[in-house]
Amino acid sequence: MIPVTKPFLPPREEYETLAAGIWERRYLTNHGPLVQQLEAGLRDKLDLDHILYVGNGTVALQIAIRVLGLQGEIITTPFSYVATTSSIVWQGCRPVFVDIDPRTLNIDPAKIEAAITPHTSAIVATHCFGNPCDIEAIAGIAARHNLRVIYDAAHAFGTRYQGKSVFAQGDISITSFHATKLFQTVEGGAIIPGDPDRVLAIRRMRNFGHAGPETFDGVGINGKNSEFHAAMGLCNLKYVDAVLATRKRQADIYNELLQHPGIRRQQIRPGTDYNHAYYPVILPDEPACLAVKAALEDADIFPRRYFYPILSQLDYVTPAGEKPAEVPVAADIASRILCLPVYHDLAPEEQQKVAGIILQVLKQPASAGDGSRRNSGGKP
Ligand SMILES: *Cc1c(COP(=O)(O)O)cnc(C)c1O
Repeated sequence: MIPVTKPFLPPREEYETLAAGIWERRYLTNHGPLVQQLEAGLRDKLDLDHILYVGNGTVALQIAIRVLGLQGEIITTPFSYVATTSSIVWQGCRPVFVDIDPRTLNIDPAKIEAAITPHTSAIVATHCFGNPCDIEAIAGIAARHNLRVIYDAAHAFGTRYQGKSVFAQGDISITSFHATKLFQTVEGGAIIPGDPDRVLAIRRMRNFGHAGPETFDGVGINGKNSEFHAAMGLCNLKYVDAVLATRKRQADIYNELLQHPGIRRQQIRPGTDYNHAYYPVILPDEPACLAVKAALEDADIFPRRYFYPILSQLDYVTPAGEKPAEVPVAADIASRILCLPVYHDLAPEEQQKVAGIILQVLKQPASAGDGSRRNSGGKP
């Protein structure tokens, strides 16, 4: 079986060595020594002044929205994981969807200004599949309209933009260290504040609002993470350069194998040292996408329709009586994009098998409707 992804795990002894220390100290959570060590390791590795480790990427987004005091409408992308939108709604704000650029798959800055109203407080944009957004254009719009910018950089570990970690962008960036991400701590995430003056407020918010053992500074939440999760992160951090190098090799192999006019790829922003976290392919149309997916599944290979459906279709984002936002580019891309398997120990022969099946399906003549090309027969 070839799944779309598989978590990287360090040698078990290395985890057990750190776990032995946890048993000795009996200090399991609450910003313990391993959490502090992981934060220091991440600061070093990513060359950042501040990075705050939290329970997951979703709580990171919620804290970011809260600490910036965002209200009203937040402009965001329909082409991301559900947490990008649900966090906005969870914080009592309204997501306003702006369509994506068909080449980069990121929010299209040329369409942002038309969506700004007197109620707009911020832009929450995803570096889709680790590809940096048009950061300069977004910063310009935000400055002109006095908006805050949050980057959902959940896919972007290891991506560098103009020589720096892309986490160093926006008023706040957040990321995820979930098991399915390139760098994982089982569950986990981080908040990277652009302004060092926000560090203290985020630290307190992450810890129930505690300013001291018996004092509180505003409403907080439990955004902490544990020593066990930090131990996984510390082990994996040693291997993340190897993981990134392998991802690059695997992308080169797919690029080489999948030369076909019917296969389009995401355009990576110039000035980017890309992390190759995912390998999305954009197929000619939805029937082709479903046919490729079905043929791969028949061979025990499981790509993923990622992201599908688009977030503007969620039933809780549109006020009653209104129609969902029109984002035709995102809807079109979502209907025919597939993320192919990529994980650290995916072998070149397995990639050949994946590519061979895709090319075989695309060789069959396309036809109106579902004609000669095999499709999934309506399976979800
Ligand atoms: C994974 C992901 C999240 C959520 O992160 P969790 O750590 O799973 O909460 C948010 N946004 C995007 C784009 C993601 O891919």
